[in-house]
Amino acid sequence: MNGKNEYLLKDITFIKGVGEAKAKLLNRLGIFTLYDMLMFFPRYVESRDEIKHISELHDGETACICAEIYSPVTTAYIRKNMQIYSVTVRDGYDVATMKWFNNKYVKGAFKIGEKFNFYGKAERKFGKVTMTSPTYEREGQNLHTGRVVPVYPLTENLPQKTIRMIAKNCVDITKGCIKEYLPPAVREKYRLCEINWAISSIHFPETVEDYETARRRLAFEELLFMQLGLFKLRNTQKRGGAPIIDGEKYIGAFLEKIPFCLTKAQSTVLGELLADMKKSVPMSRLIQGDVGSGKTVVAFAAMYCAVRSGVQTALMAPTGVLAGQHYEGALKYFDESEVVLLTGATKAAEKRKILEKIADGRAKVIIGTHALFEDNVEFKNLGLVITDEQHRFGVLQRAAIAGKGKAPHTVVMSATPIPRTLALILYGDLDISVIGELPPGRKTVDTFAATENMRPRIEKFMRKEIENGRQVFVVCPLVGDSDKLDLESAERLYTRLKEKVFPDKRVALLHGKMKPSEKTAVMEAFAAGETDILVSTTVIEVGINVPNASVMIIENAERFGLSTLHQLRGRVGRGSDKAYCIMIADNLSEMTKKRLGVMCETNDGFVIAQKDLELRGPGDLLGTKQHGLPDLKIANFALDGKLLKEASTCAKEILQSDPNLEKKENEGLKNKVNELFKGYSSI
Ligand code: ADP
Ligand code: MG
Repeated sequence: MNGKNEYLLKDITFIKGVGEAKAKLLNRLGIFTLYDMLMFFPRYVESRDEIKHISELHDGETACICAEIYSPVTTAYIRKNMQIYSVTVRDGYDVATMKWFNNKYVKGAFKIGEKFNFYGKAERKFGKVTMTSPTYEREGQNLHTGRVVPVYPLTENLPQKTIRMIAKNCVDITKGCIKEYLPPAVREKYRLCEINWAISSIHFPETVEDYETARRRLAFEELLFMQLGLFKLRNTQKRGGAPIIDGEKYIGAFLEKIPFCLTKAQSTVLGELLADMKKSVPMSRLIQGDVGSGKTVVAFAAMYCAVRSGVQTALMAPTGVLAGQHYEGALKYFDESEVVLLTGATKAAEKRKILEKIADGRAKVIIGTHALFEDNVEFKNLGLVITDEQHRFGVLQRAAIAGKGKAPHTVVMSATPIPRTLALILYGDLDISVIGELPPGRKTVDTFAATENMRPRIEKFMRKEIENGRQVFVVCPLVGDSDKLDLESAERLYTRLKEKVFPDKRVALLHGKMKPSEKTAVMEAFAAGETDILVSTTVIEVGINVPNASVMIIENAERFGLSTLHQLRGRVGRGSDKAYCIMIADNLSEMTKKRLGVMCETNDGFVIAQKDLELRGPGDLLGTKQHGLPDLKIANFALDGKLLKEASTCAKEILQSDPNLEKKENEGLKNKVNELFKGYSSI
């Protein structure tokens, strides 16, 4: 029953005062039933429970008073379409004036001698107290004033008072209707209040503390369901059966092939991978490291050991361009005959040959995009799967990957550093390794925020760098011209730079609508130093390595999230030369200024990720919908870190004793998880 009974599924029009018109407005908010209304939580609550005396009010204070109507309502006509209605009220010997603009309803609302509550911001000038546009209601009603009051998300044509009244009616007629679905042991251990009390107190709490108690329970359960769902989604149930790989035997030979020493952080992480691969329990590990921290070579090292010990390995990248680059990289460590590249651009005939090589085991190192995990790809003995730039793949894709092969070891590499709390949600079941330092000699990228009128100077600077043999990236947010947004599109900018500004230089264009083979050709030419300026959309964001590029220009920088900006900036400064990032943005809002300021101040991806989370929430970090997670109603990734950890622990405990949620006491939980992940194929 999902904890709701039939009654809760009654149509919202069942509530007194909700007719067709209001029902329509509510439907737009996703509210169709009484239950939906209960689950439509306020954004916050306001303490309006303390009734103050007029004499106590000081200038600028927002407060609630209870006073008697002392004069008729008067109307002052200021100009056309502008009237002020005023009424004088009194408590004891003190009087105050209540004022409203253009609110003709107040005219008939008050009779002398009646008592009302008023809630609003008080002004005290020369001893006279005024409130402008206060909320009012009759004394003793205590719905909008005189209590802790819920404030709902704003909605067109549904004033707070209306939705509050509907919510109140709904809460009143459904008291006690919800069957508790959290097991008593969980509630006790994590100190969670009862569900009916929580619902009633999230809307109409007696005190602010009660609201917090209710919110804690509801946020906790939301995070708990999320964690349970994710764990189950990925629960491959493979307790053993992974190939045992003795990396120590082979690692020496690999290290001889690389032209540098691993950093301490790289060595530590590699050690963690090798230790995991020695066990028959499949490794599930996340490698976090800032752009340029050298994740790829660690991946290749693990792959090398796996291949030498006799199993196949796969390296999956989010774009064809990046897969191609990894393929080139792999040829440094592996024999050409044992490496294959499979992307969306691979021709059918060649693809058939490659699939054969993968199936009969001649291909040992398989590099590609998600094309690798289509159904027709059969591996002979896949032992290690590494996914690069993991956050680009949704949660579900990851489950599909783990399903290939018998029980391969898996590693995911995240290009975007993720704050710990988010890592827990996204990778809650993985062990986490962090490469927390950059290779030596890496200089920070000098970063500047610039405005449109500095363009000539910027172009002069680009010319100087190019004439010193360097290369320049220019990134724009959109491909073609958009009617609505006047953004410098990649195409338009490309034409201007090529024809007007740099006719003597080699300028190229790269965008997501090009064919994969075209993209690869453009990218390869740039990497080979055959072009000076690459104008591009964000397809270059991930992974591309062109050490000779020294300048990154970002157009309409205000349109990008911090993590994306950081990623883009990470495309330069990969060589030993000084590198620069110039973010062009106009009409700076306070928020944009803050964000660009963060970029100018720090090159540390973890710091930037945390700021991004605080400033804009998780959507941007994860690529709005790409993360594939259900929306959270009440819990907040940025603020509920501690709660998330508790919920995560709780989810693990529950699944440990009941992996499939089959026990009677977990039935309610199971239904809730299914409800949250409705539309996700296999739970
Ligand atoms: P990312 O972590 O962003 O994927 P890469 O693996 O692409 O970083 O590495 C960035 C660059 O740093 C590459 O050119 C790589 O060869 C180089 N590199 C990696 N590790 C080291 C090291 N220990 N010392 C010097 N250069 C390194
Ligand atoms: Mg990389």
